[in-house]
Amino acid sequence: MTDRLILVLDEGTTSTRAMLFAPNGDVEGVSQHALTQHYPADGLVEHDAGEIWDKTLSAAQELVERVGGPHRIAAIGITNQRETVVAWDRHTGQPLAPAIVWQDRRTAPLCDALRAAGHEDMIRQKTGLLLDPYFSASKMRWLLDNQPAVRLAAGEGRLAFGTIESWLVWNLTGGTHHITDASNASRTMLLALDGTDWDPELLALFGVPRAALPRIVDCCGPLAETDFEVFGASIPITGMAGDQQAATIGQGCLLPGQTKATYGTGAFVLTCMGETLPRSTNRLLGTVLCQHHGKRTYALEGSVFVAGSLIKWLRDGLGLLVTAEESEDLARSVPDSGGVVLVPALTGLGAPHWRPQARAALMGMSLATTRAHVARAALEAMACQTADLATAFSADGAAWTGLRVDGGMVANGWMAQDLADVLALEVIRPEMIETTALGAAILAATGAGRCTTLEEAYAAMSGPARGFLPTMDASTRTLRLARWAEALAKV
Ligand code: ADP
Repeated sequence: MTDRLILVLDEGTTSTRAMLFAPNGDVEGVSQHALTQHYPADGLVEHDAGEIWDKTLSAAQELVERVGGPHRIAAIGITNQRETVVAWDRHTGQPLAPAIVWQDRRTAPLCDALRAAGHEDMIRQKTGLLLDPYFSASKMRWLLDNQPAVRLAAGEGRLAFGTIESWLVWNLTGGTHHITDASNASRTMLLALDGTDWDPELLALFGVPRAALPRIVDCCGPLAETDFEVFGASIPITGMAGDQQAATIGQGCLLPGQTKATYGTGAFVLTCMGETLPRSTNRLLGTVLCQHHGKRTYALEGSVFVAGSLIKWLRDGLGLLVTAEESEDLARSVPDSGGVVLVPALTGLGAPHWRPQARAALMGMSLATTRAHVARAALEAMACQTADLATAFSADGAAWTGLRVDGGMVANGWMAQDLADVLALEVIRPEMIETTALGAAILAATGAGRCTTLEEAYAAMSGPARGFLPTMDASTRTLRLARWAEALAKV
């Protein structure tokens, strides 16, 4: 039965998807449902955990039926939006409050208070994370303080906390497994990067009861089995990782220095560090990339707030573009940006600058400037922002050996070539861009014993890719980066 398929549950922020992968990595089916976003007030973002489970289940059941039944599925892999917190009742299995989504900023005052009390350094040293509402621990504290049902359940020993993969496994196993994988656990701010279990000092600092937390397990292996009722047969769950870690694995970045960048709304960059603990002095994040047979590999992570959203803004906000794709032809239609530089700080600047108050700037225009120059400057900004990250990663001991790209924006071939030119690195773009789901499939295939290593599974399941080699001369590159640095200094 080697032709049996891997079922991936890809639980994103805006949609839930199920995908089927053949042993060679071909996608044999997709089912997708949109998720309702709840914005109860400015800065607050919630999901209904019940809806997440219902839609995941129906997407998965639909695919299993489509291929003829559960005997066609070898194993399940899960990947998910990270940091989002669900609180549920162990006795009833029902959510006790709306899930607080990673984007939610309600715990900013709590983070400020912890910073003022001098805890930031200890947190960063231990977890590799920056003290920010983004991560799960402050969200758990908020639920305990503000949701009476959560507090009551904690007092009575009925409370279960978990990130999304934990919630899905609980439901898939009929409530017999309360587990989280090490990659997701490393985003809670309750696990030290080199700790095997929840950190007592961090638990005490955030006041999170250990009894409410899941058991931390590997990212691949025989992690759990689905309850018979769910699919009409028991299916092993053998792979689990947060979405960015899964995408890194799906891009085959498994050796130190190998780097992937996803250019969607924003850009997420992760560099594999191997077994070296990531310690950033440049405001990058250290995270667990994967845990297999109890052994961890790590990654350094940095994100840029504005990538594809800049192109969207040029199109919808300024009306400068008719379609996002048009940016490519416009960029090619001029020999350079005509001296125009665009610093896309539309929502502040992310890593490595971390200037939330910065605002965007468009500079260097003359009467000769056309919309093609502005479109080109917008795309050029992507390579410049990425180059700033490359410098920071290098300074933190994670120099890039190559860059593998994905996300909606890299359909733009001009941008991919410009990245290679400015970074002076080969840029590789796979044809199959669903790298997050592929990463979960690779984990599940390895966990099911089809391959002994992730490298082997990646080799078996990844498809063709296109390489972009640097062609820009050094003086042009230096000038581009100098102009960018000048413009950046002004914002
Ligand atoms: P997300 O997953 O964050 O929603 P996607 O990975 O789907 O984003 O990428 C969509 C983004 O990429 C949009 O912001 C869009 O403006 C941009 N985009 C899509 N196609 C192109 C293109 N050919 N050139 C430049 N930008 C593009």
